[in-house]
Amino acid sequence: MRIVLLGPPGAGKGTQAKKLAERLSLAHISTGDILRQNVKDGTALGKEAKDFMERGLLVPDELMSKMLLERFSQSDIGDGFILDGYPRNFAQAKTLEDIFRQKNIEIDMVVYLDSSDKVIIQRLSGRLVCNTCGANFHITNMPPKTKGICDKCGGTLFQRTDDKEETIKKRLEVYKGEVSGLIKYYQDKKKLYRLSADGQADVVLEEIVALTKKLYGSPKV
Ligand code: AMP
Repeated sequence: MRIVLLGPPGAGKGTQAKKLAERLSLAHISTGDILRQNVKDGTALGKEAKDFMERGLLVPDELMSKMLLERFSQSDIGDGFILDGYPRNFAQAKTLEDIFRQKNIEIDMVVYLDSSDKVIIQRLSGRLVCNTCGANFHITNMPPKTKGICDKCGGTLFQRTDDKEETIKKRLEVYKGEVSGLIKYYQDKKKLYRLSADGQADVVLEEIVALTKKLYGSPKV
């Protein structure tokens, strides 16, 4: 199964993608995670992407296309994947279509996780991320058992540089400028399914799983 998750920053795409990938035994491809790893490792891509990311802007499409092509050449995507964070605009949706056409594969469903600005700002401004395993926590919604320490692996929790209120607002503005074209694109292809992501993460997860079952009856669910 090949699933694309769309939605504003803070809708919970990363959280849902991780849980879904585990549940359905699919690869999880997060363009944000790949970029952050490149920044951390100081690669050429990371050096080029860093400034855009810190300003809440999109990394140029050419860099993203190259990165994605490389990721889709890896063998773990053979059984299917959850794509989280790509496409972010119409041009990226066309690039994705071209890559998939060459590979003779198609997207099964695009899940659009909708969330209100109020919830997004509350979620992102309190988000904490583990610097070792990438697990997400929240200062009030989902605090770690020990302050500053990841429950899962004992790594150190940090706030993403782009989760500051000014940058969150910029990311939302960028998102809103691009999203309507994307929604129309996938609606026209009859692939788009819209869910509210304002509720608890586990409730949203069950709704996505129910949707996959209804549409595809996945035996792995
Ligand atoms: P995310 O973790 O998905 O919120 O992404 C964090 C940042 O990485 C974004 O604000 C962008 O700067 C960059 N980024 C992630 N995915 C893309 C993409 N598909 N196109 C351009 N920039 C991206």
